Amino acid sequence: MEISGPRLRSLLRQAERNAQSGKLVAAADLYHQIIVEAPDSVDAWLGLADVSQDSAEKEKAYQQVLVLDPTNEAAQRGLDILHGAIVPVPEPAAAEPEPEVVIETAVVPPTDTITHDHEAVAEEEFDLVCYRHPDRNTSLRCYNCSKPICIECTNKTPVGYLCPDCFKEKEDAFFNNKSTDYIIAALVAVPLSLLVGFVLTLLLGTGFFVWLIIFFVGAGVGSFIGRMTKRAIGNRRGRYIPYLVAVSVIFGVLFFFWPALITLNLGALIAPGIYLFIATPAAFYWSR
Ligand SMILES: [Zn+2]
Ligand SMILES: [Zn+2]
Repeated sequence: MEISGPRLRSLLRQAERNAQSGKLVAAADLYHQIIVEAPDSVDAWLGLADVSQDSAEKEKAYQQVLVLDPTNEAAQRGLDILHGAIVPVPEPAAAEPEPEVVIETAVVPPTDTITHDHEAVAEEEFDLVCYRHPDRNTSLRCYNCSKPICIECTNKTPVGYLCPDCFKEKEDAFFNNKSTDYIIAALVAVPLSLLVGFVLTLLLGTGFFVWLIIFFVGAGVGSFIGRMTKRAIGNRRGRYIPYLVAVSVIFGVLFFFWPALITLNLGALIAPGIYLFIATPAAFYWSR
């Protein structure tokens, strides 16, 4: 199967360059990455076989090439050499490793109106180095700021890969709350949560049937607290609003039940426990 997608093709080219300049470990790493995503790539298996320092892996990779392409001469020859059936002819004077190239910033400045859909700005010519991991080669760049990033540092978005910095920036733009929203949110979420906590004290000494009801209405109560809070702040999104609401829900219960907690009065803690277990995630979810 042919490698498809600009990113994999770019990785493959980079692996070949690494192999040619003697960076065998880096090349093998890249081939492994490619094989994970394109296990049918003859080129990647053959490349891996050529650079691998582990004869078992070498053999397996050549075999894999022959599975995919039974008439592949390079793989057959590689196996023959591996098994000592033929002696390799030394290649004429190995090429000097290419000098490291300093990359000029010849990239398009970031724009806010990105309309084209591409996986990543594929780097054709140079071995890039991840700006957060100086020991990792890569061919990927952040589509927003064009800094080189390794696979681990990519954040996949609908329009392409983003570096962690740009991802954080976009996230911050997503959260549009005012700082006073936290006060308003607390003024709504805390009283509501206290009210629920108080109602739970009225259910002390009740049994299984009430626990069952709490189990089923808990999510509704939690989502009510979350939604009322969200509405009170004009439906703006705040990074910490859901945490504030969740903490309020817990506080509303602890305010009344902390003596039971300290004395480990487990019987009194069942009803509020069920409520918190169900309502806290719901309140968090609905106030996002
Ligand atoms: Zn970036
Ligand atoms: Zn990285």
